[in-house]
Amino acid sequence: MLQLDVGMLKKAPGDFQPFNLSAVLPSFELQGESMNFPGPVKANLVATNNDSTIVVEGEVSGKLTLNCSRCLDTYDYIFEVPFRETYAQASQDNEGEVVSFSGDILDITPEVLNSIILSLPMKALCREDCEGLCPRCGCNLNKSRCDCSNEETDPRFSVLKKLLKDTNQ
Ligand SMILES: [Zn+2]
Ligand SMILES: [Zn+2]
Repeated sequence: MLQLDVGMLKKAPGDFQPFNLSAVLPSFELQGESMNFPGPVKANLVATNNDSTIVVEGEVSGKLTLNCSRCLDTYDYIFEVPFRETYAQASQDNEGEVVSFSGDILDITPEVLNSIILSLPMKALCREDCEGLCPRCGCNLNKSRCDCSNEETDPRFSVLKKLLKDTNQ
């Protein structure tokens, strides 16, 4: 979990405190799929006490295991996303985009996960030029070559070709 101890900061309006965190985050569900972090998630943040709120901003980086939408293989998606969130004590009358917290520990894990999810590509690709799977035998064309590409891919086309050949004779 990514947690900030703001016990001291809370008592010092106008003050700020840097936080360099690294944590192994548990996997989470996204659209019915389990998403895993192969390594720790790092957060370089500065928390500022703005009197009534604590603003946390900085950058979150790490890796997330994704499934390539083309070859279906898993790969490490490397992310480096900006983070900015405003927190306020739960007892206060909070308005707008403020996350409430209580005590001295600020658990920013849910908001960090949100920032990561928002950064995810629309179409996950293990690499820009992923060659995907062979439509005939299903082999991963990034890893191996099959003989399918040497044959006609559309069976109708070969029938046509045969017909043309016959008429030419
Ligand atoms: Zn791929
Ligand atoms: Zn093939």
